[in-house]
Amino acid sequence: MTRKINHIGIAVNSIQDFITLYRDVLGLEYSGEEVVEDQKVKVAFFDIGESRIELLEPTAPDSPVAKFIEKRGEGMHHISVSSDDIEKDLKEMKEKGIRLIDEVPRNGAHGTKIAFIHPKETKVLLELTEEKH
Ligand code: ZN
Repeated sequence: MTRKINHIGIAVNSIQDFITLYRDVLGLEYSGEEVVEDQKVKVAFFDIGESRIELLEPTAPDSPVAKFIEKRGEGMHHISVSSDDIEKDLKEMKEKGIRLIDEVPRNGAHGTKIAFIHPKETKVLLELTEEKH
């Protein structure tokens, strides 16, 4: 099982307000935006080594990210860990009694499969990400 940090998700009100900072000031490669309908967010990725920073902007007031910002303000939202086989990982965690937000993977950005583990378990919202093979 290979594990690495796939990306770190940061919730913001407006991606546009942060592009200059992450791309030009920090010098990270901006790899474009995508709307993830399922999560009601627009995401933008900035490459940093093997990982990425993912900025998340809510696209609707009932988006989970909008609720997060309302409650806790803009800031770190989740850490994503790479998974080679997300269904297998979820099954194993479920068997071990780990509380999951998603027992079945959802569609993430760039054709990925993603699932969230309940923050009560990991003390931070953890996302598993399986890249498109
Ligand atoms: Zn993410």
